[in-house]
Amino acid sequence: MKNYSKITADYLHIGHGELMKNKVLIHDKGTIIDIVDQSSVDDSDVHHFSGIICPGFINTHCHMELSHMIGRIDTGTGLLPFLQAVVGYRDIEQSVIDQAIVDGDAEMKKNGIVAVGDISNKSDTALVKKNSSIRYYTFVEMFDFLQSQMTEATIEQYGPVHASHSNDAGNKKSYVPHAPYTVSPELFSYIKENNPSGSTVSIHNQETAHENNLFLEKKGGFLDFYKGFGFTLDHFQASGRTAIHYAMQHMDASQKTLFVHNTMTTREDIAEAQAWSDHIFWATCPSANLYIENRLPDYQAFIDKKARMTIGTDSLSSNWCLSILEEMKTIQKYKSFIPLSTILTWATSNGAAALGYNDLGTFVPGTKPGINLINLVGNEPSLEKSTLTVIA
Ligand SMILES: [Zn+2]
Repeated sequence: MKNYSKITADYLHIGHGELMKNKVLIHDKGTIIDIVDQSSVDDSDVHHFSGIICPGFINTHCHMELSHMIGRIDTGTGLLPFLQAVVGYRDIEQSVIDQAIVDGDAEMKKNGIVAVGDISNKSDTALVKKNSSIRYYTFVEMFDFLQSQMTEATIEQYGPVHASHSNDAGNKKSYVPHAPYTVSPELFSYIKENNPSGSTVSIHNQETAHENNLFLEKKGGFLDFYKGFGFTLDHFQASGRTAIHYAMQHMDASQKTLFVHNTMTTREDIAEAQAWSDHIFWATCPSANLYIENRLPDYQAFIDKKARMTIGTDSLSSNWCLSILEEMKTIQKYKSFIPLSTILTWATSNGAAALGYNDLGTFVPGTKPGINLINLVGNEPSLEKSTLTVIA
C-alpha cells in the first residue's frame, strides 16, 4: 500500500482507552511521529480510510510448530481426547512441517500481528523466527507428567531446544511449564531457577473441568488419561484447591506470569492470583476454546477484577486461522457486552506488556508498533465481516 504519512479513519484506537474520532496519525514509514486533531492539519494532506486504525496486534499464545495439524483434529471433543489426538499424530514428513511453519509466519504477518508468544517443544520453528520481521517470544515448554523420575531427562531434552531458539533482534525466550497437571514440583523449581529476572513465563491454565477435579479431589478424566499413558498418580495428593493454586505455589511471583485459556477460572481464582503477584496477565484463545471444549472464559469476571487480558490464537491444531482480528470477532459475537475498545486493548497494549515489548502495542512517538486498518462494513463499530489491511 502507498505510504500516506498523515492518515485518519472513522476511529483511531491508540492501544488503550476509548475509540477516538477526528484524529490524524502522522508517521514516517511506520515510525510514529504524532497524533493530532483533524482540525489542526490541512485536510488535503490527510488520507481518509474507513474503519479503525490501531497498532499492530500481539498474539500472546501460539504453537507455530503445530501448524501442519490444520484440519486434522475433530472439534468439540473436550481437552483430553484432543490431547490424545495431537499426541497420536506422528510420522509427518519434516518438509510438510517446515512449510506449514513458513506459511504460519506469513499468515500472521498478513494479519497484522507484530509479536507472538510462541510455545515450542522442539527446534522446528527456530530458523523461521530468527529471520522473521515478527518478534517471537519463544516459550520453551517443559512437562514430565508429574513424574519426578522423568524430571532429569526432561531437563536434558529441553536444554538444546532452548539453546536453538534466537533471543536477538527483538526475539526472547524462557523456559515455561506446560500446565499444572503435567509438571512436577521438581521441574517447576528448575524452571524457576533458570529464567533471568524480567522473563515472561506462560502456563496453560484451567482449560477443562477435569483439571480442577484432579487438584480438588483427585478425580476426573486425568486419572484414566495418565493410566492410558502408563503413568502412575499413586504419589499425587489432592490439595483441595483449584489447579491455578498449584501453579502459583511453584511459580515465581516476581516474573511476568501469563495464564493461558482460563475457561474454568473463577472470580476467586482471579482475586487470589492477583493477590499472589502484581505481574499477572491472562491470555484468552476463544476460537480454540470453542474448537476444543465449546465454552468461553467468564470474561465479565476478568473485567470486574481489572485483570489484564491478552489474546492468543493457539495453534492450527485447534483453530482455523492465525488471526487476532478473527479472535476479536469471536469475542464480540459471543460476548457482545464487551466494548470494542476493551477488546482492542487486549489485542494490542496488554499483549505487548505481557511479552515485555514496551515499544509495541501503542502509538508512541518514535516507536514502530505496526499500523493496522480494520475495514468495517456498515456504520457501527462492529467487527463482523470486517477485514484487515496492514498499513505499516
Ligand atoms: Zn496452547
